[in-house]
Amino acid sequence: MTTSRLLDVRDHKARTPKKCIACDKKIKVGEAYTKTVGVIDRQLVSNTWHNECFDNHSGYVQDRQREE
Ligand SMILES: [Zn+2]
Repeated sequence: MTTSRLLDVRDHKARTPKKCIACDKKIKVGEAYTKTVGVIDRQLVSNTWHNECFDNHSGYVQDRQREE
């Protein structure tokens, strides 16, 4: 079973080009983005997201939890 836990969520401004984990598109230099740090199967994993993509993802997760 895969266990995942979100440890930290932060807003950053890109100083170097990044790639969004959700939509696979570039995050441009100077653009605000969300960085998350989590643990998946005891491995530390950090991801970068467009703010909107992270909002969409969070909304989806919350909807799912409500249904269960
Ligand atoms: Zn995105």
